[in-house]
Amino acid sequence: MIDKLRVSKKGRIGNWIGGEHSQSQADAFLPIFTPYTGESIGEVSLGGRSDLDRAVAAAEAAFPGWKNTHIKDRVQVMFRLKTLLENDIDELANLASLECGKLLDEAKAGILKGIEILEYACSVPNMIAGDFQEVSRGITCRFSREPLGVIASIAPFNFPNMVPMWTLPIALVCGNVAILKPSEQVPLSAIRLAELFHEAGLPAGVLNVVNGGVEMVEAICDHPGIAAVSFVGSSKVARIVYARAAAAGKPVLALGGAKNHLIVMDDADPDFAPEQIVNSVTGCAGQRCMAASTIVAVGNCDGLIEKMVSYAKGFDLGRSMGAIINAPSVDRITSYIDGAESGGAKVLVDGRGLKPVAELAGCENGYWIGPTILDHVRPDMPAACEEIFGPVMSIVRVNTLEEALALENKSAYGNAAAIFTSSGAPADYLLEHASAGMIGINIGVPVPREPFSFGGWNDSKFGSGDITGQDGVNFWTKKKKITTKWVSPKNPNWMS
Ligand code: NAD
Repeated sequence: MIDKLRVSKKGRIGNWIGGEHSQSQADAFLPIFTPYTGESIGEVSLGGRSDLDRAVAAAEAAFPGWKNTHIKDRVQVMFRLKTLLENDIDELANLASLECGKLLDEAKAGILKGIEILEYACSVPNMIAGDFQEVSRGITCRFSREPLGVIASIAPFNFPNMVPMWTLPIALVCGNVAILKPSEQVPLSAIRLAELFHEAGLPAGVLNVVNGGVEMVEAICDHPGIAAVSFVGSSKVARIVYARAAAAGKPVLALGGAKNHLIVMDDADPDFAPEQIVNSVTGCAGQRCMAASTIVAVGNCDGLIEKMVSYAKGFDLGRSMGAIINAPSVDRITSYIDGAESGGAKVLVDGRGLKPVAELAGCENGYWIGPTILDHVRPDMPAACEEIFGPVMSIVRVNTLEEALALENKSAYGNAAAIFTSSGAPADYLLEHASAGMIGINIGVPVPREPFSFGGWNDSKFGSGDITGQDGVNFWTKKKKITTKWVSPKNPNWMS
């Protein structure tokens, strides 16, 4: 694998506009690093308004043609894209792994979830037939769904394929044209995705990719030619984007960060729960918004915790867990561990300073932290209540389920909450009382499958509705309500 990473120099990454690669007019560029080695593998343009103007113009030019393409024909592009993604899954996973630090299987899982949304999008024509009713004698009401126009999707680093695919297939099938702004840390997958959409037959200009950072995001929020925005990233930025784009009159759906609480009851299955819980914390090196982070142990869970510790100690970096996105993130995660330790928490498994397995020779200077388990974390410690976004489990001990739910409810976030138990009553209690949008019962990463949509509550989401499923269709369309009454003409010449 490392050989593949080494030879994969990608050069300068610009934009994808009007169905082709397009140089940026930016004069600033950012190195792209592979987290595996810390080496630069290319650089990405940090564009702004002038790049965006060109992308919006290309999208606007494509809109009438795409909007007037029958939805059943728009869907054919998605069917072809599904085949292309399935055929190219290894190459795409390599790319995501290279720029994001994921294990290959994790990168593949992100693409497969994207394919799932694609399949959902292919069923949209069957679902949006609409309602029709004779509301009064001779008068009928129905509605049609109209696309919004040029829409934008702003994505984070941690799922280079999946997050763009939360938005693009549904928005495009609904007749919109799109601008994708990937994270400047992972621009490679987005450009490849645009090439594949093109190969699948998407007309030029229907999907454009603009690269950049803060300046580009601000330009998207303000641009009068952009009708609506979806954002996925940290809560701090989600709040900014939500406010700025809404002030410019756009519908916005902004998904933010998370601090997911996972409650462990002492009757949780000892052969099943410990591994599931550790996997939830450490999958994607803890860099996913659905990761369990604060583990609330109710009663005597010592035996379960011992099993978690022995399982986590068996991890090989680079084989059972991938890398951290960049050096500042390694520092941030380390400082949470340091802070909890100096505040009195017990470090049961210590991932600080851990290096990848020997077979990844050459990766020692990459960005690594091993699985870490902190016990007896106090609920007011930053490790228990702030998003660490790394493979760190903070165990808080409580005596009752009520205390556990009170802690979960106090969190500003509300993406996911889960429980591991062998009894129905505690699970029902969690269901009733958790303040989170996605609930797991004996499931560590409770990502709903389609057609159930994806989205959290509280500071984990700004805006209404969820990002996939029927909510995606609702967000990316506007309804036109049509009331009809035909008055019979006098002496119609078409009657005998
Ligand atoms: P981020 O907020 O730093 O960046 C997200 C996007 O915003 C990027 O495209 C970036 O260029 C842009 N951006 C960054 N700072 C900005 C600013 N000040 N003003 C305007 N735009 C700005 O997030 P990230 O580090 O790329 O991703 C990790 C975060 O995303 C975590 O908090 C994670 O929980 C969250 N996330 C949430 C979900 C979800 O579904 N709720 C899914 C994936 C990731």
